[in-house]
Amino acid sequence: MQQAQLGELHLKSVPRAQLNAIIAIHSNRRGTALGGCRLLPYDSDTNAIQDAISLARSMSYKAALAELPQGGGKAVIIEPQQPYDRRHLLLAFADFINELGGRYITAVDSGTNSKDMDILASRSQYVTSTSVAGNPSCYTAQGVLVGIQAAVASQLKHDSLKGVHIAIQGLGQVGLILAKAAHAQGAHLTVTDTDPQKIKAVQALLHCNCVLPSDIFAVPCDVLAPCALGGCINEQTLPQLQCKIIAGSANNQLASPALAQQLHQRNILLAPDYAINAGGLIFVSLRHYQHAERGTIDKKIQQIGTTLREIFLQAQHQHSDTLSVCERLAEAKLHLQAPHPAPHTQQALASTPQASISQGSRHAPFH
Ligand code: NAD
Repeated sequence: MQQAQLGELHLKSVPRAQLNAIIAIHSNRRGTALGGCRLLPYDSDTNAIQDAISLARSMSYKAALAELPQGGGKAVIIEPQQPYDRRHLLLAFADFINELGGRYITAVDSGTNSKDMDILASRSQYVTSTSVAGNPSCYTAQGVLVGIQAAVASQLKHDSLKGVHIAIQGLGQVGLILAKAAHAQGAHLTVTDTDPQKIKAVQALLHCNCVLPSDIFAVPCDVLAPCALGGCINEQTLPQLQCKIIAGSANNQLASPALAQQLHQRNILLAPDYAINAGGLIFVSLRHYQHAERGTIDKKIQQIGTTLREIFLQAQHQHSDTLSVCERLAEAKLHLQAPHPAPHTQQALASTPQASISQGSRHAPFH
């Protein structure tokens, strides 16, 4: 299993609700751990735990790079193989969140939506992105678009997306909004999804090309935007790539960090995921903890472009891959003194027993 210098690992099994869930907290150093909750089928408990651990680390890095007063955490609910009562499952998960006393705050992620968050919020105060609070996905898409613009300027020397060919994998909450926004800026799109209905809907709306999910990596394009699940750039897909840039919302896009070096050698510019997909986290942190206005949030999301430009420049000067540069930058920021939370933040986090956080792993095996 990958070493991730994890702060806490919590496993929960509630057989009567068919709940098997994991909460991983990478770090509370900069503030309360904030990160989405996945509800997906997994091949094994080990894979689900590994997913939670590596995603929690990405959340810490994401918050540090965006200079937000948050730590990194992630939750995974293993989707039951048998038919299940979703509400019952989610309420049992809300009890699990409550057991951590506010050290972890949850949000939507793959397989969950705002209505799910509403159910959690009926039982727990440690929930964001409810239907009242708003879905962060459009802010994530906004940040990805800013990141694509920065990558296109750096790699292709284009100052607009007009005529730039973008291949989007995944037309979910983020991918769909990204497709519409890129189309509006004159980009030429090729899209795919495992759900044919989603492809049909986007084609009808944007009249763009579509390919089978297995063919998206081989599309000759300027930008490949992975907006589905992690691990999509791997030993099988990397040799197929015919793009000049990889820039999308999916977390942990590389199956192994070593692949970043191979992309660098092939002159494919990677916009590291935790730098480019921070828009949603920025929205949640600024709006829900600091009650920031739209203008402040937009300004902060624009800074994703500045951060990426700095990463691209450093990578160029150091003859290094962008992921290594991004990791060093995030580590450095993670260990800087955390910013002081705004007054409402302190109030919201009043129940957070930060001083008593256990730094060792705590394991409770599934039954
Ligand atoms: P989503 O579940 O709404 O959408 C994912 C889409 O990908 C779905 O339409 C699904 O059918 C499709 N898909 C799955 N496997 C596929 C495959 N092999 N080929 C093609 N399509 C496939 O998720 P989302 O909220 O849009 O998030 C997308 C990615 O971005 C995830 O990795 C998520 O963790 C990450 N992310 C999302 C946010 C956010 O605000 N929603 C924030 C940061 C990162």
